[in-house]
Amino acid sequence: MPSVYIKTYGCQMNERDSEAVAAQLVAKGYTLAPSEAVADVILLNTCSVRDFAEQKALNKMVNVIAETRRTRPNVVLGFMGCMAQSRGQELVDRLPDVDLVLGTQKFHHAADYLDELLAGRREKIVDVAAEQGSEATIREHLLYGNAAGNGDGRRPPLQVTAFVSIMQGCNQYCTFCIVPYTRGEERSRSIPDIVAECRQLVSQGVKEITLLGQIVTSYGKRGFGRAELLLGQDAQQRVPTTVVGRAGSPLPADGGASVPASRLVSSLAPPNDTVAHGVTRPSLQESPFVQLLDAVHEIEGLERIRFTSPHPKGYGDDLIEAYARLSKLVEHAHLPVQSGSDRVLKLMHRGYTRARYVSIIEKLRRARPGIGISTDIIVGFPGETEDDFEQTLSLAREVEFDQAYIFKYSQRRDTPAAEMANQVPQKIREERNQRLLEVINEIAKRRFGAFVGRQMQILVEGPSKKNPARMTGRTRCNKIVVFDGSERHRGQLMDVKITRAGSFTLYGDPAILE
Ligand code: SF4
Repeated sequence: MPSVYIKTYGCQMNERDSEAVAAQLVAKGYTLAPSEAVADVILLNTCSVRDFAEQKALNKMVNVIAETRRTRPNVVLGFMGCMAQSRGQELVDRLPDVDLVLGTQKFHHAADYLDELLAGRREKIVDVAAEQGSEATIREHLLYGNAAGNGDGRRPPLQVTAFVSIMQGCNQYCTFCIVPYTRGEERSRSIPDIVAECRQLVSQGVKEITLLGQIVTSYGKRGFGRAELLLGQDAQQRVPTTVVGRAGSPLPADGGASVPASRLVSSLAPPNDTVAHGVTRPSLQESPFVQLLDAVHEIEGLERIRFTSPHPKGYGDDLIEAYARLSKLVEHAHLPVQSGSDRVLKLMHRGYTRARYVSIIEKLRRARPGIGISTDIIVGFPGETEDDFEQTLSLAREVEFDQAYIFKYSQRRDTPAAEMANQVPQKIREERNQRLLEVINEIAKRRFGAFVGRQMQILVEGPSKKNPARMTGRTRCNKIVVFDGSERHRGQLMDVKITRAGSFTLYGDPAILE
């Protein structure tokens, strides 16, 4: 069978999409090539968030074409993901050696399309049309890594963490962002569907699940009726005629996933405190996302839940309360702030103010002392003045982020910000990037240093990428810890004593080695 190599650019959503495509191809009999040099199919899963990412993928394809067409003319070459979606046919017109362009709602057709191209039944395929229900098709996993093995016949070791895609698209339309145009409108999978996938992963040894989406806090707000969301597509037959409260028993087996009955009460019934079957309904109306967290939290054997990316707008009191209540939800929140200036936040169409953002952080820190906070910040947004930028610096100092991903504003075509007056010159973007980086690094150094001497629980994920002789794990607050261990510790929750702090990495000694 043919072998395939997928190179991924961009975010965790892209990583997850590549994994699902690879798993789909493996199920069809394809093998995974260890490098593009020996692959029969080379796919580039692309990112459009910044111009730089697009140029990188385009240059890569130019090099791949130069290499393969000379020595292996039959290799199938394809683009998939966000740039494939936004540029479509233009990619084939520009690079006629490209055989396949696969949009963001078409990943599940990858195997069929490749079969056709490899068999010579079709010469080119460009498919970037919208497809209803595609959000539920990203579900296959490669739990044994994105490699065909070591070539020595041994199966690669199991992954202990997994990403689960819960929704696609975004309706927020931040003025700088191309995602709503490349990923489309928000579409959510149903809770039973997601829970079934998580259960399956846990039964195979996964201990930590990260729920993924472009804007997870908007999960379930569009596209589904509440009943469908909770109970699956055939909800009408499944809506229970009797419901019980927080302390009640779960739904019968034919009710789909084990969504706690209390959540059904809060969703399907009017929000009040009246008594149903002797149990008081929760007064706090929970968003579909919190209901999903509740349902996933019920899964036996699952140790940790993470999610990304949320939007500060979605941090209602119900989500804060979930942090206080759900022990498997780790002490980490990634909260993209983008700017510390209200004026710029408004221009960005972010939908919150600096004060609202800070109040969310304060509530989270009260709910979960020691919670790790990371963020995304854009510098040099059109019209950003020195004063606006100073406010971003002061926000960074006020919040004391554990980690921040800083992006120099990049003009994306067809987005409102690209057309705004007062584009900030590149030189100033770079200078602000550097100044903010210095503040972020100085804060992180202090915060990471404060962990030295403390004992922390980590989930051991596998060998360190930089030094495979050592193992790495992750704390609940999302700090990577490198320590001397062995393969037998993979998948274990263990305590380590932190002995040293590097930049964004901790080093530890196992407190107990079993
Ligand atoms: S919420 Fe995130 S994905 Fe959606 S438009 Fe804004 S930045 Fe883009």
